[in-house]
Amino acid sequence: MLLCETTAILILMRQSHLFTKTQKEAPTDEQAKNAQLLIRAGYIHKEMAGVYQLLPLGLMVVQKIKQIVREEMAAINTNEMIATNLQPKTVWEKTGRWDDEVVDVWFKSELKAGGEVGIAWSHEEPLANMMINHISSYKDLPVAIYQFQNKLRNEVRAKSGMMRGREFIMKDAYSFAATEAQHDTFYEASKVAYTKCFERMGVGDDTFITFAAGGAFTEFSHEFQTVCEAGEDITYINKEKGIAINEEVLESVDLAELGVTKDDLVATKTAEVGNIFNFGRQKAEEVGLYFNDENGERTAVWMGSYGIGITRMMGVIVEKFADDKGIVWPAAVAPYQLHLVGLNGDDSEIKDWTDGVYAALKARGVSVLYDDREARPGEKFADSDLLGMPYRVVMSKKGKEAGTFEVVTRATGEVRNLTEEELFADFSS
Ligand code: ATP
Ligand code: MG
Repeated sequence: MLLCETTAILILMRQSHLFTKTQKEAPTDEQAKNAQLLIRAGYIHKEMAGVYQLLPLGLMVVQKIKQIVREEMAAINTNEMIATNLQPKTVWEKTGRWDDEVVDVWFKSELKAGGEVGIAWSHEEPLANMMINHISSYKDLPVAIYQFQNKLRNEVRAKSGMMRGREFIMKDAYSFAATEAQHDTFYEASKVAYTKCFERMGVGDDTFITFAAGGAFTEFSHEFQTVCEAGEDITYINKEKGIAINEEVLESVDLAELGVTKDDLVATKTAEVGNIFNFGRQKAEEVGLYFNDENGERTAVWMGSYGIGITRMMGVIVEKFADDKGIVWPAAVAPYQLHLVGLNGDDSEIKDWTDGVYAALKARGVSVLYDDREARPGEKFADSDLLGMPYRVVMSKKGKEAGTFEVVTRATGEVRNLTEEELFADFSS
């Protein structure tokens, strides 16, 4: 499917108009904490195991995560595009990866007009193939492209909620270089860009560049592994030295060369949030992607591929920061910065006042979700905790008389009483 979207995040901000409502219970068949909370809070809808719809609030979180990644991709001169989900069999046959014995997550289908198609689990082969039309000379290199795309994978186990979907959003980038040195420059730049992404999303301190299984060309690839109890990987980490090794390759890594012994590494549960891969010239040779080098010699392009699990990231963030009351979003990915909770009941005087403050905050560009519903305070607070915006501003009759607003920091529970002036100064952009 071709996804059509805008990068602008503009959505109604009155909770009375939000179509999703919070739920007391998640579906009984949902085992993952991240999905349970996201479903209860109305961010996602479970369509079936491993398949979730993104509802308005969930979409906003995904847009925030994407925008961070988008900015860091632009910083390393990578071009955004969007490829198709339907893929021809022929391009995957070139590399032997059409075979279900080789790739065990394929969804495939047949055209009524005849012939088989694959449904995108990755875009490495199709985009390498596409570049045959766009690369002919060393002057066309280096070049890098990326997209945010729905990937479909026929995963055997889908029990980790948003962290392992059968349909999920990935950011995937592909680099094309003339020489190994050119490739290395981009590969190292992508490490820096990824590091910035994860820092901005609030998981920088807990995310490690990790030695992981390579492929036919390289012994190792690099994964970005985030410490997370619900993660499916085990990573051996030495935090001080910044060394991390996926359990899968622990035996193959030369620990002495890294200046550590196995005892210096702590086995830690982690989630793979990103993976970068060096293909050498092999992939291009198989697909038939060649260019003429400076001496006019026909040479295969040096390729790399670079993934980030966008929706997995959303699940990991929920898992890491949630408390017993609900979700706790880091500011950078929260749908709204501020949850304005009016304790108006049916008092129209308070309602007019809260409406006025909401309008004033909006006019100042503050990102605010306004709970304007006629509901009990207890219900509003519980919903607000579950939804997890970084700050809650409570507006009550008592506060109106005192001329103050109660501001609660969701992550710490810290309570401050601010005047209107202080409130606007704190939150205006
Ligand atoms: P895993 O080992 O977890 O199955 P992978 O190594 O097969 O993942 P890649 O092909 O490297 O995944 O995909 C790039 C990124 O996409 C991964 O680093 C991960 O963050 C994300 N990802 C992969 N599979 C899924 C999935 N089923 N659901 C959500 N995100 C995924
Ligand atoms: Mg991987």
